[in-house]
Amino acid sequence: MGPRGGRRARAAARRPREEGAHALRRHHRGEIELVTRNKLRLAIVGAGPAGIYAADILLKAERNFDVSIDLFDHLPAPYGLVRYGVAPDHPRIKGIITALRDVLDRGDIRIFGNVRFGTDLTLDDLKRHYNAVIFATGAVKDADLNIPGIELEGSYGAAEFVSWFDGHPDVPRTWPLEAKEVAVIGNGNVALDVSRMLAKHAEDLMVTEIPDNVAEILKASPVTDVHVFGRRGPTSVKFTPLELRELGELRDVDMIVSDEDFDYDDAARAAVSGNKQVFVIDKVLQQWRQREVGQASRRLHLHFFAKPLEIVDDGTGRVGAIRYERTAPDGEGGVVGTGEIRELPIQAIYRAVGYFGSPLPGVPFDTKFGVIPNHEGQVMVHDEETGDARQVYGVYCTGWIKRGPVGLIGHTKSDAMETVRHLINDLGNWWNPESPDEESIVELLDERGIRWTDLDGWHRLDEHELALGSAEGRARIKVVPRDEMVDISRGEA
Ligand SMILES: Cc1cc2nc3c(=O)[nH]c(=O)nc-3n(C[C@H](O)[C@H](O)[C@H](O)COP(=O)(O)OP(=O)(O)OC[C@H]3O[C@@H](n4cnc5c(N)ncnc54)[C@H](O)[C@@H]3O)c2cc1C
Repeated sequence: MGPRGGRRARAAARRPREEGAHALRRHHRGEIELVTRNKLRLAIVGAGPAGIYAADILLKAERNFDVSIDLFDHLPAPYGLVRYGVAPDHPRIKGIITALRDVLDRGDIRIFGNVRFGTDLTLDDLKRHYNAVIFATGAVKDADLNIPGIELEGSYGAAEFVSWFDGHPDVPRTWPLEAKEVAVIGNGNVALDVSRMLAKHAEDLMVTEIPDNVAEILKASPVTDVHVFGRRGPTSVKFTPLELRELGELRDVDMIVSDEDFDYDDAARAAVSGNKQVFVIDKVLQQWRQREVGQASRRLHLHFFAKPLEIVDDGTGRVGAIRYERTAPDGEGGVVGTGEIRELPIQAIYRAVGYFGSPLPGVPFDTKFGVIPNHEGQVMVHDEETGDARQVYGVYCTGWIKRGPVGLIGHTKSDAMETVRHLINDLGNWWNPESPDEESIVELLDERGIRWTDLDGWHRLDEHELALGSAEGRARIKVVPRDEMVDISRGEA
């Protein structure tokens, strides 16, 4: 049985059914067949922004066939990294959820939460029930940083920490926040999020939606100094100005920058005068250089031209220090090592050097870039016979798993447009499913004993979390354990 009060799909009929859509299908033998389609049964795997935007764009697109979309996610709640990546003290960005929610609330997309592609559903299952699939599975893991000592106790990936403070159900409830001095490696916005969450006083996070277990651990943190390391200079960072400026507004936290990092060469000066974003970043940093420091109980240090070489063992298998090399501008916008080695005591290190996609069973995967190989969203595979790349019919991708883990939420919209355009034009090459009716997938999930959740279930969980929050004067308190999320969603709590 499905969850209590489950909604039936309302197919999005935007054109009279009898019109149909025609396409020519060319067989390998050279024969040409006229294919007529009245309906696209589409599976989308991943209910993050990319998956939701793809569904929305397809439903609104000019086309002469009906569409019925099922959106699967292995989490019991939708919105991907907007719920489980964007920091809790960024309510404006979290607010994008309202727009995504409006799309789901229209009721013309069925959602199936708590269903993992690869274990609960396979590609063969999808071929039996749908005409095509779009993978929008994002990227959740940390990219590797191969320096000695990175495996020591006290060394963490930013993605793990982000998942913990954002209440992801699949990471441990506790986090060892025991270090007074911490290093964060990376010069992008995720490094800023991690540094801010480490340096910010927990009391200043209490108005946000952080889960209770996270709040308790942050309150007990002994941290005094957070050191952010970047290989390049201040004019080459990937921070965005708004997020950088925010650090300087943290209560009782001094921003520490070193004069030695601001001896700009011609390339750096050209970047400041020629690029508005760099200009603003430089301005923010220059203001911090002038600030009085020394009164705050916590400090956030920005080390530029500092290339991490090694994490040093404290003698017990734990992080004891970071060893790094001072770099210098190479005159062409890059840096070179100077041979000057420095060391700083730390007891924990977080690497924020990028996210990486995960392979999906039966789906081509590019192990170098962590994406599904594709041409504008059409999934491609290397053909052993011809040596060329050829399209995998019926399989599409969008979002971070398509183009790699870079770019903001808004970029997933243009991504989705490109993918959906190809999906529509490719109708001659869609799959021919044996059981395209909407009930058959529900029966399959129920037969397999999968405790799937639907849109009504999400509403139930959402209302529950909002009520928990309002009782304590907070925006929301997230439910973290997966079973509890599913029980509440299915009305079985
Ligand atoms: C720490 C952090 C902070 C960020 N902050 C901002 C910000 O402030 N502003 C901004 O614009 N952007 C921000 N971003 C970027 C933004 O989150 C991404 O651009 C966006 O989420 C990518 O969307 P997506 O749908 O491709 O992937 P995701 O959001 O990751 O969604 C993928 C979905 O697929 C599901 N999934 C994965 N594998 C499976 C499977 N096997 N079966 C079923 N479902 C599966 C996941 O559960 C998830 O729900 C941030 C990113 C990170 C990591």
